[in-house]
Amino acid sequence: MLIDSHCHLDGTYFPAGADEPIARAQAAGVSGFVVIGVGETTAQAQMAVALARRRPECVAAAVGVHPHDASVVTAEGSTVFAEIETLSREDAVVAVGEIGLDYHYDPSPREVQREVFARFIALARATGKPIVVHTREAAADTLELLASEGARDVGGIIHCFSEDRPFAEKALDLGFDLSFSGIVTFKSARAIQDVAAWAPLDRVLVETDSPYLAPIPLRGKPCEPAYVVHTARHVAALRGIDLGTLAEATHANSERRFRRAFPT
Ligand SMILES: [Zn+2]
Ligand SMILES: [Zn+2]
Repeated sequence: MLIDSHCHLDGTYFPAGADEPIARAQAAGVSGFVVIGVGETTAQAQMAVALARRRPECVAAAVGVHPHDASVVTAEGSTVFAEIETLSREDAVVAVGEIGLDYHYDPSPREVQREVFARFIALARATGKPIVVHTREAAADTLELLASEGARDVGGIIHCFSEDRPFAEKALDLGFDLSFSGIVTFKSARAIQDVAAWAPLDRVLVETDSPYLAPIPLRGKPCEPAYVVHTARHVAALRGIDLGTLAEATHANSERRFRRAFPT
């Protein structure tokens, strides 16, 4: 049984609730879900925690502030960081994230992104929970901050891995696993496929990043956790192993990284 190590299931994307996409994923062979709660407010984080509390057998939550929204943390009078801090201590929360740097659209100023990323790494260290890292066109700064802020102490995941092998080697050295999304199935993603084929099997996870980035053959559709099967099959083929072997390894890796069990 596969684990979707990173999905967004809040009402913005699934207005009828998360139970239906979860049921469809379970029918497809996906038994666990790490639901990411991020947004302009803490509403999504609260929803992720509530879902993980209601479905503890299969759902775990991660809470943070996406780099797109980093400015909400530093806005005068903002209580967002304090609210995430409180939520992050819940048992249902297995990681802090997603957090990181995104220099593609620069939706928040880069210095603000860096400051907020550092604050959340410190929070993760204080809670002893791993971090889920989003990085886009910010490879050097991401690696530098992970190192300088001591992220190695908690480790975590480079989610939706879309960098190259030199980055992967440094991230692995810093104690970060690599999670592959539907991007790895795209024809243009040669460098990512190389890393997916090469990375140590005990450091690889799979995810959908639902509702984004549906894998081939469903590219362009709204993505949901059931589709992680296509991504896993592609990664298995790249590695020359069968889907069952890949599923078993990524299941164990998810359990070890998030320090909880998921159904088998
Ligand atoms: Zn992301
Ligand atoms: Zn995400």
